[in-house]
Amino acid sequence: MRFGTVAGRLVLVRGQTAVDIERASGGKWPAEPLRALASWPDLCSWAQQPGAIDWSRGQPVTAGLLGPPVPHPRQVFAVGLNYRSHAEEAGLALPPEPLVFTKFPTCICGPDTEVVLPSGTVDWEVELVVGMGTGGRQISEEHAWDTIAGVTAGQDLSERALQMRGSPPQFSLAKSFPGFGPTGPVAVTADEFADPGDLALECSLDGQTVQSSRTSMMIFKVSELVAYISGICPLLPGDLIFTGTPEGVGSRRSPPRYLRPGQELVSRVEGVGEIHQRFAG
Ligand code: ZN
Repeated sequence: MRFGTVAGRLVLVRGQTAVDIERASGGKWPAEPLRALASWPDLCSWAQQPGAIDWSRGQPVTAGLLGPPVPHPRQVFAVGLNYRSHAEEAGLALPPEPLVFTKFPTCICGPDTEVVLPSGTVDWEVELVVGMGTGGRQISEEHAWDTIAGVTAGQDLSERALQMRGSPPQFSLAKSFPGFGPTGPVAVTADEFADPGDLALECSLDGQTVQSSRTSMMIFKVSELVAYISGICPLLPGDLIFTGTPEGVGSRRSPPRYLRPGQELVSRVEGVGEIHQRFAG
């Protein structure tokens, strides 16, 4: 299944049609995303019964309709240096265990946005983003996918000068300006993919491909990240995990490249779709 939000309400999406889950179920399931995601396995079972949803009563998915799949997550985790190729371009040693920081939740936004650049050193990082369903504590790798609602596309936009300031550097604020966490356009359940651990992801800047890789190149797989993080923090329904970026960021180019007002960044994950950011000064 594919899900997202319209005006903050959870919708299921099929083709170019979105159906409001609360209205379609006669109130059986809540429209509020965090509450709906807490019941995700049961909600999915219900929705997949033949005839459960009258798709003819849906609304067309027009440009700008969908917001972030989870508009107000309580926790947003992000993982640094989770692709060997990116660690190498950064000149940093591979982490022996996941390198986890946060994007503060106010940075989360939808798939089609304009981002005001706070400086001249903002960089791109296309990422697969995991959205938790039931979540839990001390989740085993074997059961990790059962606790996930779906995966979506995201950008871990990063203000590099602030990110690297300080000793040791603290990543989180530099990755949390307004608009620095675009996600969407929908989240997709694992059963929709032949292999949810091997998806193409790429991003392009003004039409030029700048990152292109596959999620199978991650050092720590999605199931390992869920097990590791939930061994420390409980993972709550709707929590997001940005799972790291492959090679091709701008700051490691020679000369370095950063986002400029007027540019457009398009980020894609195979089987999920595209997110579009335009930048203003
Ligand atoms: Zn990142």
